[in-house]
Amino acid sequence: MAEATGRQDGLLPLVIVGGFLGAGKSTWLRHQLFTRRFGRVHVLVNEAAEMPVDDLLLGRAERLDVLAGGCACCSGRADLLAALRRICDAGAVALDTIVLETSGIADPAAIARAIMEDPVLVRRIVLTRTIVLVDALEGPGQLATEHLARAQAEAADEIVVTKAAEAPAPNRSRLAATLRGLAPDARLGWADFGVETKVETDPDALPFDLGPVAEDSGPIQAHRLDAGSAGGWWALSAWLSALLFARGDSIVRVKGAVRSPAGRLLLQSVRRHVQPPEILPEREQPQEGEGDFIVLIGRGIDPVRLQASWDRFVLGHEGRAEGIARDDP
Ligand SMILES: [Zn+2]
Repeated sequence: MAEATGRQDGLLPLVIVGGFLGAGKSTWLRHQLFTRRFGRVHVLVNEAAEMPVDDLLLGRAERLDVLAGGCACCSGRADLLAALRRICDAGAVALDTIVLETSGIADPAAIARAIMEDPVLVRRIVLTRTIVLVDALEGPGQLATEHLARAQAEAADEIVVTKAAEAPAPNRSRLAATLRGLAPDARLGWADFGVETKVETDPDALPFDLGPVAEDSGPIQAHRLDAGSAGGWWALSAWLSALLFARGDSIVRVKGAVRSPAGRLLLQSVRRHVQPPEILPEREQPQEGEGDFIVLIGRGIDPVRLQASWDRFVLGHEGRAEGIARDDP
């Protein structure tokens, strides 16, 4: 293994890619895999909720595992440790790096601690870098209101501000000053569509005033809603628009896949900002659970009312769009 990794100590390097929900981790990582920044890589993608399309989005990795249904820093920790042990045990495969794309609600420091406390992994794996992505537009608000967003930035060796071109220059300078305050030693870079870009910032800009974070904001939870083959582009996108209109403040992130005449589309939103849909590559063999679905991540969402609204509007087509605002899922 030492020759394969180029490390004298024979440890396998691990890179953690973190960042808040919607920061653009998959887009960025996809480009890094394309440029082979990490060499021969085994990618682990962790999602707090099951998202059966993550592997399609990162098609360039030679080896990829999706760890779905639990965040690797807390509820999915045992799954992560088991997956890392499996990779170490399959030592015959030449590997330069393991890259872990964390869920958007993960604290990278908690993951690092869990690996160091594992008696097997601590002798096989070395955490070489924690790269944290921050959204140029949403980042300042997240850092101001989310304790987790700050903890992520503080844990970084390298911070990449994504969607750089979308933020006005004065805000970019202020965000850079804010991030330098949170992580003074971290390298700060910028990216657009995952590609590194050069951004000049004003070194005298003032940081954003972050203030104290509200402690009683409650946990962020993921809810998955399945439509199987009963969904369809029109019903699902109309439901989603109405929901974001009515409850956008409590919904941090939406991801989903839905069939359309153009092919299977990936739907994504961050807060109320819906991103242009992306056409998903077709699988050679259709897999189980590949129907239309949506994963909603947010706070204070009542799962029963959410499901009722989905059943009625997306599955039953009985309700009307305004029914969502009225029922307030
Ligand atoms: Zn977690």
